[in-house]
Amino acid sequence: MFTVIYIFIFGLIVGSFLNVVIFRLPEGKSIVKPPSHCPHCKTKLKTFDLIPVLSYLAVGGKCRYCDTKISFQYPFVELLTGFFFLFTYLKLGISVELFIMFLLISALIVISFIDYKYMIIPNYITYPGIVIGFLSSIVLDYISIYDSLLGIFIPSLLLLLVAFIFKGGMGMGDVKLAAMLGAFLGFEFALAGIFVGSFLGSIIGLTMMALGMLDRKSRIPFGPFICIGTVIIIFFGDVLFDWYLSLFF
Ligand SMILES: [Zn+2]
Repeated sequence: MFTVIYIFIFGLIVGSFLNVVIFRLPEGKSIVKPPSHCPHCKTKLKTFDLIPVLSYLAVGGKCRYCDTKISFQYPFVELLTGFFFLFTYLKLGISVELFIMFLLISALIVISFIDYKYMIIPNYITYPGIVIGFLSSIVLDYISIYDSLLGIFIPSLLLLLVAFIFKGGMGMGDVKLAAMLGAFLGFEFALAGIFVGSFLGSIIGLTMMALGMLDRKSRIPFGPFICIGTVIIIFFGDVLFDWYLSLFF
């Protein structure tokens, strides 16, 4: 029971670090210097201001030095990371695989928010991700080296092909993201995640078009959908695969 709480709190703390990465790295700022401060009045935050979620609630979503509204992204990313870590723990228990999945999920959260805001999937997340995913297939045995290698090439080549055929839409960032997913999860799970994500993306895109919130020319980033699809597959992949197979056998 206590472990559940510890894992959730660990997720909240990692989430507050992910916020720093999301806010600072795309603007080329260091993630350690300067220490956390209010972006408006520049007041350096004290320990009390840095407690995930609680300090946001305690100050009513406003900086307590200058009253400027604090982005809702802070508590949102913290809670999201907390709950994702919690679900992953409930699924995998304490294992080495759990910490590998924590790394992958953290990367997916950072990529989703950066892609959503800046329409870019940063190489400084995907390149190390591909390397870490592949290395863990060598060191650990939850996935074979062969699976990881196929995972790096098959999904990414498929997206590369799609990017060539339908110009626009997809970018090289999405192709590298696919390679990273495959390195961690193997090609079947990575493809399933991309498929679920594209499906969600199409439904949401078409709905927004129908509601007039989007016209044919507006671009929506594809990365966050791939990430959401992948998280769904990490949590429910085995259930979905069993159900899918049961349709045929
Ligand atoms: Zn302030």
